[in-house]
Amino acid sequence: MAIVELKNVAKNYAQGLVKGKGDKSSNAVDNFNLVTRDGEFVVLVGPSGCGKSTTMRMIAGLERNTEGEILIGGRDVSQVPPKERDIAMVFQSYALYPHMSVADNMGFSLKLKKRPAAEIKAKIEEAAQTLGIQSLLDRKPRELSGGQRQRVALGRAIVRDPQVFLMDEPLSNLDAKLRVDMRAEIVKLHKRLKVTTFYVTHDQVEAMTMGERIVVMKDGRIQQIDTPINLYEFPANRFVAGFIGNPSMNFLRARHAEGVVSGDGYRLTLDDSHRPVVTTRNVGDVWVGIRPEHLRLSDGAATNRVEGTVDVVETLGAVTVVQLSVGEHSVTAQLPGHQKVEIGDTLTLACDSDKLHLFDTDSELAIGREPAEQSSVAAKA
Ligand code: ADP
Ligand code: MG
Repeated sequence: MAIVELKNVAKNYAQGLVKGKGDKSSNAVDNFNLVTRDGEFVVLVGPSGCGKSTTMRMIAGLERNTEGEILIGGRDVSQVPPKERDIAMVFQSYALYPHMSVADNMGFSLKLKKRPAAEIKAKIEEAAQTLGIQSLLDRKPRELSGGQRQRVALGRAIVRDPQVFLMDEPLSNLDAKLRVDMRAEIVKLHKRLKVTTFYVTHDQVEAMTMGERIVVMKDGRIQQIDTPINLYEFPANRFVAGFIGNPSMNFLRARHAEGVVSGDGYRLTLDDSHRPVVTTRNVGDVWVGIRPEHLRLSDGAATNRVEGTVDVVETLGAVTVVQLSVGEHSVTAQLPGHQKVEIGDTLTLACDSDKLHLFDTDSELAIGREPAEQSSVAAKA
């Protein structure tokens, strides 16, 4: 277990390779700042190419950071080679040795460290039991399913008893059902071992269900660091608002005046959480964000109204997801499962004022609405 600190960390792949290249705008990761708690489970999430793997590889020592400092357990590791950083990695490609048995794969790092055979055997057995793979120890990787291979890769990391686990999309090769099972198992495993863990995923559901804190990244930059619930309730900018939550938040380009935001097909009243900011501004444009699950069918008398024509109906059983044309916007609403809605229907939806999100049209930063306890970092999207 250890606290991991990243201070102003940046990576520029071009630096040193091509003359004249290496300006800040081409940084794969830029200005990355984070201090973990001891034993914390931190998830890095963001679209493909946003710099998640680069960040992990810098922590592991597989890439040198071009700026900033990385500290593990208070020690600056910039000059420390990967194998001396006391880190264990699990990646999407399991990279098991094909000619070795499961047991030998799991024990290989300990063997390299010349640990006594009895200790290696005991550690392998303990890890195998934790992961439910005792019966597979004599098999070769090719005799295993994808899920079993992933367990072996986890087992190989566990036996090393590291200070830090780095897991980069470890479940991407598994089918949907197995992913859900394995992510619950990894969370349980973390509760038991309490090793500081960085977990990378591009899947916001995986991030929300696993992370104690989540780092949302885009284009190499941190957009927000926060707990799952704060990311959902208080997204710092429009990117985070749209990325976290499924179906995604609706965004309506609205006019606002005196505490009311409106446009073709909708009229919404702001409440006190938005009012101090909005009333000080002149009439103007603003992005209004509404989560699909916060829209409900209205009898037409509601003060907050969104009116549109149904284009698509998805009956999922537990819920019915409806897409409507509201003026020039397409709006998604998540309604109860038993709702009878048909394509072409005109619906009036309502939404409570305290569920409305506002974003500046220039900076895309959230306006108003802040969590009681703020641990977030906002950046321009
Ligand atoms: P993610 O893991 O979030 O998908 P990466 O960290 O792999 O993103 O990549 C971040 C950016 O850095 C991308 O633009 C990618 O093309 C670039 N990149 C990654 N690895 C290298 C490399 N070895 N050399 C040059 N560019 C790289
Ligand atoms: Mg990656």
